[in-house]
Amino acid sequence: MIIVLKPGTPDNEINHVIEKVEKAGLTPHVSKGIERTLIMVIGDDRILAELPLETMPGVEKVMSVLQPFKLVSKEFQKEPTIIKVRDIEIGGNKLVVMAGPCTVEDREMLFDVAKKVKEAGATILRGGAFKPRTSPYAFQGMGEDGLKLLSEARDLTGLPIITEVMDTRTVDLVARYTDIIQVGARNMQNFELLKEIGECKVPVLLKRGLSSTIKEWLMSAEYIMSRGNYKVMLCERGIRTFEDATRNTLDLSAVAVCKHLSHLPVIVDPSHGTGKWRWVIPMSKAAIAAGCDGLMLEVHHNPEEALSDGDQSLLPDKFKKLMSELRPIAKVIGRAM
Ligand code: PEP
Ligand code: MN
Repeated sequence: MIIVLKPGTPDNEINHVIEKVEKAGLTPHVSKGIERTLIMVIGDDRILAELPLETMPGVEKVMSVLQPFKLVSKEFQKEPTIIKVRDIEIGGNKLVVMAGPCTVEDREMLFDVAKKVKEAGATILRGGAFKPRTSPYAFQGMGEDGLKLLSEARDLTGLPIITEVMDTRTVDLVARYTDIIQVGARNMQNFELLKEIGECKVPVLLKRGLSSTIKEWLMSAEYIMSRGNYKVMLCERGIRTFEDATRNTLDLSAVAVCKHLSHLPVIVDPSHGTGKWRWVIPMSKAAIAAGCDGLMLEVHHNPEEALSDGDQSLLPDKFKKLMSELRPIAKVIGRAM
């Protein structure tokens, strides 16, 4: 249920409604929009029906949300969510580019790639320290040492960092180092992990599961938000289809659909979406034209020797050229870069 307050309702009246809802044992989530405040109440609708909400001062109406995802939905919040990460805004007019290696391999390579992506105009540095590998014999990531290198690279370049967390036991550890927590495709429906991340205040990038529908993906975002962490961004990274010419099928229609259904920022990852650097270039352009709020791109100074995802990693020069080709596309659709 959403309690819609009249425009300009004073704080004491808003607080009065919140107290009433809490007293009834329900959880209110408040969205303060430009025009009006909405209070989403999750819990037993029958209890809510007993409350004299519509007679309370400040309340305009009470409506039910038809979608199964509530806090994620545009019905709850019309204005786009803008997430502040250090001095960068995600979800505003300016597009963001998260770039860097798939995996943090060592200090030298990370710093080299970090400096190069920064020079080319990237806004956030990516790099995995805990890696979800298909084979248990493949490199599993540097763990906390990788997190330390990422934070040193942030000091060096000034770029905020994003890195993946795979396990409820390492959420606090990763949150201590990173500016954005990444939930990988394989963990999109790890509900315990989502709940744990929902308890912290660090912004989250939620990747779409390998075979997940948009509705399932949005329900996973709802898990995080329902625990109080509203700083969620969605990331389309390709889904499994019958097509095997590309590693995954990058579902760009998901950008349009998510933007229609939700107020959350949408990021596109054409690196995992296609699996080949060659296809990353046109699909990055297409993603921006489709209306995403930013890109996530893998960049490596020596893809041939990369410990993971070399095939889909752009050389720094190619990344730089791509950045210069993306700017005019952003401009045409009214976005800055
Ligand atoms: C990654 O970003 O390196 C990664 C493992 O992504 P995904 O979870 O989308 O496969
Ligand atoms: Mn990768």
